Amino acid sequence: MKAGVLALQGSFREHREVLDALGVEVIEVRTPQALSGLDVLFLPGGESTTITKLLRTSGLVEPLQRALDEGLPVFGTCAGLIVLADDLRDQHGANAPAVFGVLGCTVLRNGYGTQLDSFEAALRIDGIEGTFPGVFIRAPLIESTGPGVEVLAAHDGAPVLVRQGRVWAATFHPELSGDLRLHQRFLQEVAA
Ligand code: GLN
Repeated sequence: MKAGVLALQGSFREHREVLDALGVEVIEVRTPQALSGLDVLFLPGGESTTITKLLRTSGLVEPLQRALDEGLPVFGTCAGLIVLADDLRDQHGANAPAVFGVLGCTVLRNGYGTQLDSFEAALRIDGIEGTFPGVFIRAPLIESTGPGVEVLAAHDGAPVLVRQGRVWAATFHPELSGDLRLHQRFLQEVAA
């Protein structure tokens, strides 16, 4: 199993640490060449506008779009979810252009508001025993999900972990939680 981690900006080192702890071979993706031979890809949290700009300047948008369209399993966390979604709103509710558009969700950037910028919540996740520590940092809010999108966890009535086939996405940061189980579960399911 060879796992790529998009390493342009944001919490890519933390994803790498989780994967290292799970004994998975990790490739940091900064160029189109680094995409070849990957079995899965993680898109980290960070600043989605910065990540989007860097995706463009590094020539990654088209090859990555192709890989996703061809079924490369992907797990996007926070800003990573934002670049996967097909319907984006900025914090004022205005439409913003989708980047990869492979996840059928309407997503409001910074949707939990400024006063609630960051919080932690114990999440119940389908298929994971007990609770999982959800770390939310200027998190996007999933306002609605399209057909084919399964909600694996919700918080305060909103989906926070979703899956559409081989596309997984969380509005929180499993890579910052110290808990390896969600990465492990994703890897097990997409490898199966
Ligand atoms: N608010 C950030 C954005 O819109 C995402 C925050 C995060 O990844 N922690 O890009």
